[in-house]
Amino acid sequence: MPLPVIEAFSGHLDMEAQIGGYEAEAAAEKALDGFYHSCAALIGGAAEEVAFMDSATRAWQAVFGAIDWRPGDEVLTARSEYVSHMIMFRQAERRLGIRVRLAPDTPDGEVDAEALGAMIGPRTRLICISHMPTNDGLVNPVHEVGAIARRHGLPFLLDACQSVGQIPVDVSEIGCTMLSATGRKYLRGPRGTGFLWVARDWAERLSPLGLDVKSAAWTSPDQFEVASGARRFELWERFVAGQIGLGVACAYAGEIGVEAIGARIADLAGHLREGLSEAPGITVWDQGRRRSGIVTFAHDAIPAPEVIAWLREEGGINTSLSTTQLTRGPLVERGVTQLVRASVHAFNTLDELDRLVELLGRLAVPERRPHHRIGRPLPSQP
Ligand SMILES: *Cc1c(COP(=O)(O)O)cnc(C)c1O
Repeated sequence: MPLPVIEAFSGHLDMEAQIGGYEAEAAAEKALDGFYHSCAALIGGAAEEVAFMDSATRAWQAVFGAIDWRPGDEVLTARSEYVSHMIMFRQAERRLGIRVRLAPDTPDGEVDAEALGAMIGPRTRLICISHMPTNDGLVNPVHEVGAIARRHGLPFLLDACQSVGQIPVDVSEIGCTMLSATGRKYLRGPRGTGFLWVARDWAERLSPLGLDVKSAAWTSPDQFEVASGARRFELWERFVAGQIGLGVACAYAGEIGVEAIGARIADLAGHLREGLSEAPGITVWDQGRRRSGIVTFAHDAIPAPEVIAWLREEGGINTSLSTTQLTRGPLVERGVTQLVRASVHAFNTLDELDRLVELLGRLAVPERRPHHRIGRPLPSQP
């Protein structure tokens, strides 16, 4: 998190401790409202189209579950779709009798938008695509998918978790109808935050499964009225400090300019991929014509968890583990089960990336790391 985010976020927690939760919330009214505006500005939407959520997954589940599914309805998605969505698809197939179909990838690994378009039929109700899948540097052609969705009048739910805050994301340019994103990744917001954006005309067609005193009003003993716009997806109780922090994170990214952030990340990630491709025993596994700031690689002899532990202990470098749990199909097919993931951000330096490559060079020679111990087994991190 950048300093202004930390200050806003922990400043609010301090105020809660000093004057109480309700009182602090009332005093922070402007900052809370500011979240909707800075978030909407970042993605080219309107403030009333934004809902604050506690994670991207919650945002995604909320809209997915708000569609009036009928048995036989079809969802079209990509092979690189996020693990939690894949699990929920399977659950929805069993529970609701819908069918989820995977569009093929192009040889570059992206979703084949044209093939996806050809799969659209009379029962197709929704298209779901991840902009930047979690684990291989891929950037899906979301504008092409959006154009197809528009042509067929179909709603398009975009998972923009890794792209919001990393590259310009404009909902009207992309042509999506719903977008879910997280706070804690490229946006550099607090953990336990996320948001949902729903196009104005679409929100009214969605009926959230869980309503409360914020998302609806009790108008008479047996009547209620659902809140308008995306706010129908919000609950009354929330992580107030998180919402304030996320608002500042959106404004911070907007002030620097996501265009500039994206250009810098692309340069750094390109530099890292180049260095890695020359490092002994290392294979870069990223796919796609256009690449994100997520750089994934593996050592041909040393398991990824060991590489990660080495980088952290020797160099203080944080990388994470991508496993088949995260984006199952594509990895299994390519015969890899574990990858090291280095997510580069604009604040990283060329020196840091060179040091990472240099450390890997030393890892390649086992006798040069005689004292190295393997740490605890690592869980995979989305
Ligand atoms: C991280 C991630 C998610 C989940 O975000 P949470 O805020 O952890 O729920 C969804 N999709 C993609 C592509 C991700 O990388």
